[in-house]
Amino acid sequence: MSGAFLFSSSRDPGARLGFSAALLQGLAPDGGLYVPAEWPRLPVDAFDGAVALPEVAQRLLAPLLAGDPLAGELAAIAGEAFDFPAPLVPLSPDGRLAVLELFHGPTAAFKDFGARFLAACFARLRGTASRPLTILVATSGDTGGAVAAAFHRRPGIEVAVLFPKGLVSPTQERQLTCWGDNVRSLAVRGTFDDCQRLVKQAFLDPQLREQRALSSANSINLGRLLPQAVYYAATSLAVSREFGESASFVIPSGNLGNSLACLWARRLGLPIGQVVLAHNANRGVPDFLESGEWRPRPSVATLASAMDVGNPSNLERLRALYPRLGELRAALSATSVTDEEIRARIRAGFRTYGQVWCPHTATAAEAWERLPPEQRARGRWVLVATAHAAKFREIVEPLIGREVPMPGSLARLFARPVHCVEIDATLAGLRAALGTQGSSWTI
Ligand SMILES: *Cc1c(COP(=O)(O)O)cnc(C)c1O
Repeated sequence: MSGAFLFSSSRDPGARLGFSAALLQGLAPDGGLYVPAEWPRLPVDAFDGAVALPEVAQRLLAPLLAGDPLAGELAAIAGEAFDFPAPLVPLSPDGRLAVLELFHGPTAAFKDFGARFLAACFARLRGTASRPLTILVATSGDTGGAVAAAFHRRPGIEVAVLFPKGLVSPTQERQLTCWGDNVRSLAVRGTFDDCQRLVKQAFLDPQLREQRALSSANSINLGRLLPQAVYYAATSLAVSREFGESASFVIPSGNLGNSLACLWARRLGLPIGQVVLAHNANRGVPDFLESGEWRPRPSVATLASAMDVGNPSNLERLRALYPRLGELRAALSATSVTDEEIRARIRAGFRTYGQVWCPHTATAAEAWERLPPEQRARGRWVLVATAHAAKFREIVEPLIGREVPMPGSLARLFARPVHCVEIDATLAGLRAALGTQGSSWTI
């Protein structure tokens, strides 16, 4: 594959491979995460005429897939993955503050973009393989639904979603169990950590490995991260075309996948100004930026539960991008928001703007309110809305005193019958639930 664009492990710049190989491997053999081995600069005029997400995706990603087996499929993959919009909704009449709505996909959260792109890639890489490809996902809530939706009814690929029985919200559980066909929903009698342990054990189990090709679709996969740079590119281009200014983003952050995609887009040359990370009470990253010392810690439960991460895996990519602390501090800022502040911001967002925000989006709104006025006055600000409020209606409705209308996509999911198998948190339990080679999963 001479001349192919290459990715390297965050731990070893010398360990290089192409996009498809990085996608199939997930994690690098040395335990690092795949990052672009170099950074092509894309001038803004490379995007001339590209407005819609699929076109922006092609221009942005073509240089990164150059020479890869999937390069010729990029147009089809982008068309399939980016088939729902990411509208930018102005909040102030002068348009200086706006909300980027990333929740118009099948499971009403931004993870649909990455999951759908990854599924479109995997479907093409499978080709004529003889063994079924089984994707294992351990989920504490949001990821499993997006991955199941993206892979549902894809030939040659099966998905097993492992979640801790009784420990996800009723709304989340519906999204994890409404699939059937090639998706198996496994309610594990244990915790989220047990689910993650089982997935790791499965990858090491000779019996399972002989029967099936195993892969994972978790958020560290390059195939989920890269497509997320596309909506930042499209938004910053739209803002710079309309106002001649760069767009600054406030991003609800947990595992840092979404914010890293924004920083990658900026590194590739897109007109992006400041980047502010909004964390919930899991304040490891803000504390790290302040002290310069990284201390992983156990996660604490908050209202913005999809960001309850004590030790973000993508921190490794962030440090690879900005190896020196001074650079890192200049490149972004981060702040931590309490549950009480989230509640107050959901109320205020409804009162002031008529906006109904999920708890994650509210952390971004709160982080923006905290910025010094002179910083807010510079450039154009975009609050990133990561999920539809209806996914967190139990929290949001009492705060705004009214019902949150369910988007059509979620209503359709909730109307589907439930398929779920309960298993013990043991490898034997998982093996039995996956069944033997060749058995059909179709229910
Ligand atoms: C996953 C998720 C986040 C956090 O995104 P990271 O990429 O993990 O930082 C924020 N909001 C919602 C709704 C999510 O599902």
